[in-house]
Amino acid sequence: MSDCIFCKIVRGEIASEKVYEDEAIVGFLDITPVNPGHTLVVPKAHYTTLHDTPPEILQKMMVAGQKIAGGLKKMGAEGVNFGMNIEKAAGQVVFHTHLHIMPRREGDGYRLWHGKAYAEGAMQKTGVALRSALS
Ligand code: 5GP
Ligand code: ZN
Repeated sequence: MSDCIFCKIVRGEIASEKVYEDEAIVGFLDITPVNPGHTLVVPKAHYTTLHDTPPEILQKMMVAGQKIAGGLKKMGAEGVNFGMNIEKAAGQVVFHTHLHIMPRREGDGYRLWHGKAYAEGAMQKTGVALRSALS
């Protein structure tokens, strides 16, 4: 897409610190990292979110993420979070599908979200609804 910021990065029209490239995928450093080395894995073709990204591209994104996570580990990362914000309510800001690869260290101050318990019977009801949505 011509006005998409990540398409412009893929085409080299906007500068980026590229760390990975193959025939389908580019990996470049996030401009506002959770920690240094935070990388965005982006398909070269434009897809908007997870929902319109073909499975074979998602597979390639995950494999590229695995390679980058290995590199971050070699550089001293003690752990890595993979994250994908899917649609506005989940925090997606750039609507070109992408995977965040975030290096972590013990005590770096970031916290994962906290879960909250289901009300009585609500887990089973949710299970029924989701199995039905998946069938
Ligand atoms: P989202 O919230 O959509 O999952 O995350 C978008 C990410 O893209 C943010 O973490 C943001 O820092 C990063 N980002 C936005 N614009 C640019 C840019 O021009 N260059 C780079 N390298 N990262 C960007
Ligand atoms: Zn795009």
